[in-house]
Amino acid sequence: MIEITKTNIEKAINKARQTKPFVKVIEFRRYSVTNKITGANYTVKFTKIDDKKFAECDCKATVICYHIGASIGAHIVLAEQIHTAPA
Ligand SMILES: [Zn+2]
Repeated sequence: MIEITKTNIEKAINKARQTKPFVKVIEFRRYSVTNKITGANYTVKFTKIDDKKFAECDCKATVICYHIGASIGAHIVLAEQIHTAPA
């Protein structure tokens, strides 16, 4: 699990913009990311502990990778929907 910071997520998002992988929601906080060119598929998970955000991806990268960068957009939208959903 790697902590998400403003700096590392910005880099990952920029890389995702270039790579444009396909992101599918598995469930809230779990995303399937596919590289359209190679067909490689990875699962990204987000976790929140206290006020810190963490992410993990099952690719071999040990940093916040572009799979995480690609998923976070969908994650933010879903998180806001759940947060603002009427009880
Ligand atoms: Zn990855």
